[in-house]
Amino acid sequence: MREWFRANAAELPWRPADLDAIRDPYAVWISETMLQQTQVSTVKDYFIRWMKRFPDVETLAKADEAEVFNYWQGLGYYSRARNILKTAKIVAALCSASRTTGMRKMPETRKELEALPGIGAYTAGAILSLAYHKREAILDGNLVRIFSRLYELDFLPTEKNCAEIYWEYAREVADSPKAYMHNEALMELGRTVCKTKSPLCETCPLRGECRAFLDGRTAEFPPTKKRTEKSWHGTVLVIESADEKILAVNGGQKFLDKQLALPHFESAHHATVALPAKAEDYINADEVESVEHCGTFRHSITVHKIECDILHVRLATRAKATHLPKSIVNSEKPTAFEWIEKAKAFETFANSFSLKALKKAIGSV
Ligand code: SF4
Repeated sequence: MREWFRANAAELPWRPADLDAIRDPYAVWISETMLQQTQVSTVKDYFIRWMKRFPDVETLAKADEAEVFNYWQGLGYYSRARNILKTAKIVAALCSASRTTGMRKMPETRKELEALPGIGAYTAGAILSLAYHKREAILDGNLVRIFSRLYELDFLPTEKNCAEIYWEYAREVADSPKAYMHNEALMELGRTVCKTKSPLCETCPLRGECRAFLDGRTAEFPPTKKRTEKSWHGTVLVIESADEKILAVNGGQKFLDKQLALPHFESAHHATVALPAKAEDYINADEVESVEHCGTFRHSITVHKIECDILHVRLATRAKATHLPKSIVNSEKPTAFEWIEKAKAFETFANSFSLKALKKAIGSV
């Protein structure tokens, strides 16, 4: 992506020729605010005019609202201009109190920035990464579109419990000393290549790993409408070896496919003590000593309303590498399996889906 960006970055009035240069946070803030809901081609002239008249936060803070509106006229959404002026006055007052000089006049933490009028998670991330080169994530419509297509996410971040999934991908992108370039490169890719209609996949540097492209389904992502809730019934297995280890799966499962989670699969209601056939994907039936149904639990992940039976399966054998499933190993998503110490299980799993099932199956250890 960095190579692609260096070769394809458009010349823009707010973008320095040296893509690695530290930028003026004030200019980043103004340009990113102007760009919300507005095309780059429209914003260019507005930005140039604005920066000539209000080159820094102090100059802007002294302006009156009518003049600021005049420079904003045509960009629409006047609440943005009103908030810019309010924030400029707050920041200028803070600078004068702390005698801050030079470019570093905008706050340098997400918390402080997001406390200012008109600055949300996106703008704060843009200022922190593009201007201060911090490892801060951003998530705008371009990145949402790219993530949805790359990972075939069939839900929007505006849906209940879904924003965090998109932010998690955004944080992965930003987890680098070059976060500023990764963020800006993806925004540029979204604007110029991964377009809403007819993405130019043949020229895209991500086409080799883009699930929607590889499956010929780019037109389906991101979804145009919010989805309605879906019910899902399944079984989660707490498989315990004779030497008190619990089998965990990392990747390739229906839910939590990028996390260590208990094995689970779709099933009909299963309040019996018989070993379901699908459990044999994970263990050999002839090594099972006992199966106990420990009740059910309810859980929500994205739009799925989950209800799961919990089966505590005790093995007569010790944990060993040969306890590896067959069908899942062959699935297209990467999958790994681990035996984790029962005594450490509650601190090892980081998702409440697995923790709820563990609690019912083995209580506290
Ligand atoms: Fe977007 Fe196509 Fe690139 Fe996938 S391959 S990220 S759909 S432009």
